[in-house]
Amino acid sequence: MEAKPQTCSHPECSKQEGGEVQLKKCSACKLVSYCGTQCQRGHWKEHKSACKEHEAMLKRMHRMGQAAAMNDILMMKAELASRGIAFPELKKS
Ligand SMILES: [Zn+2]
Ligand SMILES: [Zn+2]
Repeated sequence: MEAKPQTCSHPECSKQEGGEVQLKKCSACKLVSYCGTQCQRGHWKEHKSACKEHEAMLKRMHRMGQAAAMNDILMMKAELASRGIAFPELKKS
């Protein structure tokens, strides 16, 4: 699998990670990365719902177990993809 260069998740900012640009992940959901706090704050209104959904999903997964939550994950993936957000692959142990 090829690693795509990460870009800032702010829709109006297309900075790619590398060189002087260091992207920081949203500390709550780790789904999105921003080049700086300005972009993080600027995008929060839009990101908020996805962030909360993801957090809720993590809690659900914790409660139900990963297998039972698989449908939810697939739905979440489609939902996020439609918003142009990449879903991080779950680590297989
Ligand atoms: Zn940015
Ligand atoms: Zn978030």
